[in-house]
Amino acid sequence: VKLTNNRYYLDLNATSPLADSVKEYLARGEFVFANPSSVHSEGKIAKRLIMDTSDYLYGLFNLSEKDFKLFYYSGATEAINSIAKGFAFVYEMGNFFYFGTDHSAVRNQKEQLEKLNCMVHELPVLSDGSFDESIIIEKINAQSGPKLVNFTWVNNETGAIHSLESILRVKKATGAIIHVDAVQSVGKIKDWEKLHSALDSYTYSGHKFGSLKNVGFTFLKEGLPIQSIIRGGGQQFGLRSGTENAMGVCTLMLALIEMKEMFNAETLLKAKEAFELKLCEAIKGKGEIVAGTNPNRGLNTINFILYDTKSQTLATALDLGGIDISTGSACASGAVKPSPVLISMGYSEILSKSAIRLSFHYRFCESEVAEYWSAFSRILSRFL
Ligand code: PLP
Repeated sequence: VKLTNNRYYLDLNATSPLADSVKEYLARGEFVFANPSSVHSEGKIAKRLIMDTSDYLYGLFNLSEKDFKLFYYSGATEAINSIAKGFAFVYEMGNFFYFGTDHSAVRNQKEQLEKLNCMVHELPVLSDGSFDESIIIEKINAQSGPKLVNFTWVNNETGAIHSLESILRVKKATGAIIHVDAVQSVGKIKDWEKLHSALDSYTYSGHKFGSLKNVGFTFLKEGLPIQSIIRGGGQQFGLRSGTENAMGVCTLMLALIEMKEMFNAETLLKAKEAFELKLCEAIKGKGEIVAGTNPNRGLNTINFILYDTKSQTLATALDLGGIDISTGSACASGAVKPSPVLISMGYSEILSKSAIRLSFHYRFCESEVAEYWSAFSRILSRFL
């Protein structure tokens, strides 16, 4: 998607432009403003809007209200913190498992969870971002006590997919509570709306698919031992107090309706594959696609390494050339830190500082590939 400032925006995994339907909604300027907990008519309108969105979400993801509670949060970071710490509040000596490839919202819980006497275990990933089911099952079963495992359905940096079928087998073999970070699934894999009701929780973030920022939601199985960490007025079954953002919640529904109508997995796959083929030819012998041997990758993400080129250098050149991309490496106090995701996949420190992530809009199509490639390769060729 070319933004109005005429730049190529290839950073959809960081955030998405607003959906057209959300822009139209905002332009109309007819906003609900009342507090959904108020008993007057305006309050009821706000409440209705949230309830309509909830009905839509239950229907879209085919989950039943009887089995799952639906919570709105400020986004996935808050939701993941609430679930992990909410679990640790309930159990003395519980176990929290995660993968080194998970988002920092998951990885950075360790210190605080340990203060709550929860034991934290990092599970191993293979070099292509996938995992070995039997090893994971063994590691989980080796611990005693209550267990909560986080799986990231689609990895934000590499696009590697941890399939729900595989997660389900881990669930069956371990009996652990499963949280699925589903943030990068919407519009980025085929069948993103097909969930398994046997898994315990799923978290989404609206700004990744075109809604307003700071609004997301989680499906949480009824009866799960999760205590609320946000205490206050008792909204949302007491699990997440605070006045609900009815207008933001409504934009979740608008963006998802549009996505459901417009998303075509085959079209996106063809475009991404065509772009990736050109990239592979261009960097042959000088670089590689991260998790390139993994057949189970999302439809919109290409992460590649150019040997001997720091990602920050290439990113700056692309930026100056009008192309927005992302590097997994973080810049802290002047020093570039390698991508922890790539490190956990076994990449060296040098290579983990050389990764560039391109993530395309779900409407990217084959007819745009030549134009995108021409703009991109003009800059890339200077480094080959
Ligand atoms: N999980 C994944 C896989 C993500 O990609 C992100 C955002 O980058 C998050 C969690 C955090 O989402 P939010 O920005 O809604 O807090």
